[in-house]
Order: sequence, then C-alpha cells, then structure tokens
Amino acid sequence: MNPTPLATQTHALDSASAAGPHATADTPAAQWNSLGIDHDRLWQSLMTLARIGATDKGGVCRLALTDLDRQARELFIRWAREAGCEIRVDGIGNIFARRPGSDAGRLAVATGSHIDTQPTGGKFDGNYGVLAGLEVIRTLNDAGIETEAPVEVCVWTNEEGSRFVPVMMGSGVYAGAFTLEHALSARDSSGLTVREELQSIGFAGASPASVAGGAARFDAYFEAHIEQGPVLEDAGIVIGAVTGALGQRWYDVTVTGQEAHAGPTPMRLRRDALLVATRLINRVNEIALAEQPNGRGTVGCISAHPNSRNVIPGRATFTVDFRHADDEGLQRMHDALHQAAAGAEQGGSGISITVEQVVYFPPVAFDQSLVDMIREGARRFGSKPLDIVSGAGHDAVHVAATAPTAMIFVPCKDGISHNEIEDAAPEHLSAGANVLLHAILQRATCS
Ligand SMILES: [Zn+2]
Repeated sequence: MNPTPLATQTHALDSASAAGPHATADTPAAQWNSLGIDHDRLWQSLMTLARIGATDKGGVCRLALTDLDRQARELFIRWAREAGCEIRVDGIGNIFARRPGSDAGRLAVATGSHIDTQPTGGKFDGNYGVLAGLEVIRTLNDAGIETEAPVEVCVWTNEEGSRFVPVMMGSGVYAGAFTLEHALSARDSSGLTVREELQSIGFAGASPASVAGGAARFDAYFEAHIEQGPVLEDAGIVIGAVTGALGQRWYDVTVTGQEAHAGPTPMRLRRDALLVATRLINRVNEIALAEQPNGRGTVGCISAHPNSRNVIPGRATFTVDFRHADDEGLQRMHDALHQAAAGAEQGGSGISITVEQVVYFPPVAFDQSLVDMIREGARRFGSKPLDIVSGAGHDAVHVAATAPTAMIFVPCKDGISHNEIEDAAPEHLSAGANVLLHAILQRATCS
C-alpha cells in the first residue's frame, strides 16, 4: 500500500472498499492504511457552518447560547443524524453524536471541540475540530467500516468564554473542574443566565452533565484544532503532535501610592503608583524570558487612577498572565513576581502592592500512547510531525482529567486566531483530519 501524501490526498478508499461493508471488528486497523477523508466535503461543511454568524470581514460572530449558536447546533445535529448518529444533550448543553460500535459494552472513542466563537472570531477555531470529527464518521460510513468501540463527536458548550465566564464551560462541567450549578448561574453582561439561555435555545438537555454525576466516560479523546500560534507555520510542518498544555497562573496586581498635583510636587517627594507598576511590568517580561522556551509572561490590561494628565497616579492596577510547561517553572515565576513586588514596595517609600492570584490551571500532560498514534499517523502519510505544547486552553485540557487525551494541531495563517482574518489551508485541515481518522480507527478497532 502506498499512501498518498496527506497534503494531496482526497478520497482514497480503495483498501477500505476491498474490506467491504462487513469488515469485522477484529480486522486490524492497518488494513485501512490508505483510507482518507473527503477533502471537499470537509471544506464545504466548514464553509457552510461559517455562514451562520458570518461577518463582513470574513469571520464569524456566534456567541455561546445565542440564536446563531442554536442554528449552528441544529445544523450539526441534522448532519450527524444524516450520518446515522444518535444524539444526546446534557444539562450544560454539550452535544454528543454517537456512531455505535459492534461492542456495546465498550466506552466511546471521542473527538470534538466547540462551535461558539469570539465576537470577532474566525471560521476554524473549534469548528474545525467538530467538523473533522463528523468527517471521520462520514468517512467510516462510506467505507462501510464498523468499529468495535462507538465513535462520538462532542460539541462543548461555551468554550470561548466571551459571553459567559468561566471559559471552557461545557468540558469543565463534564470533567468536574467546577459544578453544573456554578456554570448555570453564570450571567452575561445583560444579566441573563446560562440556565435561562440554554432553555431559550432548547438545549437544556436531560443527560447527566458531569462524569461524577453519571455522564459516560470515554475510552480516549482526540481533539483536532488550528494551532492559533505561529510555530508550525514557522517550522514548515503540517501536523503538530500536542504533548500537553501550558499551566497558567493569572493575577490582579494593585499598586497604591498617592495622588498629587503634577506641578507643585517635586520628583523626589512623589508616590507615583504608575511608575512603580511600569517597573513591575518590565519584570514580568524578564521573569518569562528567564524560563525559555516554555515560559510566557503577559500584561494585557492596565489602568491608572484617576487617569488625569496633570495628576500623579495614586493607584495603578494591571493583570499578569504567566504560563509554563511544568509546574515547578510556574512556581518559580510566581515566586519571582512576589519577590519583585516586595522589592518595589521597599524601594518606593509610601507605596503598597497587592498581588492576587485569580486563576491557576496546572500544566497538563497528554497521554503518551495517544500522542504516539498522532506522530505515527503523520508519518504514515509522509508528513513529519512536530511535538508542540499548547499555549492556549482547550476543551481537551479538561477532558484529560477523565480519559486518555491528545490533540492534533494544524497551522493557521500567520499564526492568527481570535480574529476575523483567521485562515487555514484546506490541505492542512484535511491532513489533520486524516491523522484524526487513523488515530480513532486504531483506538476503536483494537481491544
Ligand atoms: Zn478553540
């Protein structure tokens, strides 16, 4: 068998057709080595879904639990039913489309992502992972392959978190990162709750929402996603085998000094909170630079009080976002920030500083055997995989607490995401979906 290179493969079904519609459960997955997804069908599905909430600049605005989200969910469900799937919806609105396997006693091999977007989002973030999963099921149907384990495609509710906090809400409830009640009580900026909005779009489902509450576990979970960063494109590589996700610590920092008149107050007698804040902000950058290659430090928000041009700022607040691939590194960054704050407090007379940690996600290591399947899948089609650590949060990071998990990254143009100009090459998306197909096939046919 000579598999066509991933980048050019469209719909190679020869070996699968030879296996026939009655391929038995004990047939090794290797028999379907050259099976490939339908390149055009995947692309057309992506473009069709992207019309729901399409923006003038070529992006998508489809916030969680809006009427547009309902339309997208209903389209997915229609497609999944047409592909023979059984649908269930849980108490936080997560959708599971199940293609039965020959062994009803086996846990499902699952995949998926999310279809809500940022207000100025793109066509591929999340949507790709859901539709790549659907394309895997359609491909298995076309080839007449019956897997042993069921195959499920998940659509997780409110991954983006732009309308309701916390982010990665549906997968977080599923995995027990927070309670269903906590998620249902979250409000958007106009005061509407997740509970009300789920009911209003008809997606307050009856299935248990959390594993602890009886939701089905998975045998394995794979998530395909655009990288949302520039590493794969920079390396000229199509498939990223994601080995884990960076841990995160977020902080709110408040520097307090004293407001005073910009003219009469001599430089030596000032208690300038913003000046001290800028020194700390600079330290955040240095702290991250000392933890390369996997440390990240970002100050994304800053405000000065009273924010008047001829008043020395009496208070400055800013945020810190630290990320690192290992927890010890993240702890070093945490300690260094506190040291810097203590030093700045001592150095500037009459200045006080508080550092409040508001978020902590430990780093997540994905399952080695699943990551290996992704590496193998890439090589099988002549594509060299690159090991990569996810810098962003994904539903897979939560699901990893409940099942062996791994992710497949494909490049996005210029590494840009959460932007209407987000773009990805159709052949790269197909390549990632082919790797997903083979990983699922291997996992769902071997006992
Ligand atoms: Zn996403």
